[in-house]
Amino acid sequence: MARRIDSKMGTNTQLAHIGNDPREFYGFVNPPVVHASTVLYPDAATMVSRKQKYTYGTRGTPTSDALCDAIDHLEGSAGTVALPSGLVAVTLPLLAFLSAGDHVLITDSVYHPTRNFADTMLKRLGVEVDYYDPEIGAGIAALIKPNTKVVFTESPASNTFEMQDIPAIAKAAHAAGAIVMMDNTWATPLYFRPLDHGVDISIHAATKYPGGHSDVLLGTVSANEACWPQLRETFTTMGVCAGPDDVYQVLRGLRTMGVRLAHHQKSALDIARWLETQKGVARVLHPGLESHPGHTLWKRDFSGASGIFSVVLDGGGEKEAHAFLDALDIFGLGYSWGGYESLAVNVFLGDRTVKKAYEGPVIRLQIGLEDVDDLKADISRGLKAARN
Ligand SMILES: *Cc1c(COP(=O)(O)O)cnc(C)c1O
Repeated sequence: MARRIDSKMGTNTQLAHIGNDPREFYGFVNPPVVHASTVLYPDAATMVSRKQKYTYGTRGTPTSDALCDAIDHLEGSAGTVALPSGLVAVTLPLLAFLSAGDHVLITDSVYHPTRNFADTMLKRLGVEVDYYDPEIGAGIAALIKPNTKVVFTESPASNTFEMQDIPAIAKAAHAAGAIVMMDNTWATPLYFRPLDHGVDISIHAATKYPGGHSDVLLGTVSANEACWPQLRETFTTMGVCAGPDDVYQVLRGLRTMGVRLAHHQKSALDIARWLETQKGVARVLHPGLESHPGHTLWKRDFSGASGIFSVVLDGGGEKEAHAFLDALDIFGLGYSWGGYESLAVNVFLGDRTVKKAYEGPVIRLQIGLEDVDDLKADISRGLKAARN
């Protein structure tokens, strides 16, 4: 008998119990990590009918079901697939829903490897690709063509954190018969549930907060009822299943994601507010700040903020950015985020087609679980080095 965990319960209660049911495996709290290719059938007739729950390792195991069921619960989706990286979680649904001659609209502030995939592989396969201003909102209607099949969103934006009006975009896309995908990695399903706001397909780099420890790569894609059959079909056709140990690690990460995110949120907002008062800072790009142009949208649609945002230095260029980064002791210089440790990178904006002006270098900060006073002292060292 499955435990009755419903969406009205507190987030941390849900996170502690969703996914597997211990009573289905001798009462052990955690599910078994099933390493499998072959699954045996009791007789030849069952083999032909394929009417057995599990048929082959690439098509799902009790381990992947535990994670995918947990994500479905959080996203409110009809089905979820677990994939070997966050990048596959972007590319697989695009391949699933786009064909030669189709048109896709992608937000200009998209995660850079998503753009690279669209500009290389999608174009080679005969898909027309256009980028739009992330803040376009209902204005997206003017860019939709008869062959537009997918509108791809990511909110807040990668690196520059503009907020998108997701319900307005979804309304315009659906009116024209297109579906909407959203890379929801920043908010996680705890702080934004895309399907509740009209999105058809929700994408996560589970590498980030769900994994939470910078030691595992995984992606998830969740679909509503209408899109799930085609997503699942492409998943099986491509054979891109994630490994069982990685799937298990992410399920394990989910159990503590609520408390970790609350801490990331609190520390990041504290540091973002403090940064707004510091010498050498032009602006802080964090949608949870009242000064942010997308703050109203964020407040309307999101129930929280994660731990990553950017700071714009007041003047200077690459030299000042490098001085800032090289002066940091606690913040590591490295890509990705969502782990327990703080990170900083100098943001590259050369790929943007919608050009926006920034007063100086844009530096992205992932605020980890360290103590805020130590992080502020580290950032102060960076700001001082950039000024000199
Ligand atoms: C990191 C990231 C990805 C890709 O995840 P990987 O697991 O590193 O491949 C996709 N989208 C966004 C927004 C990301 O930040």
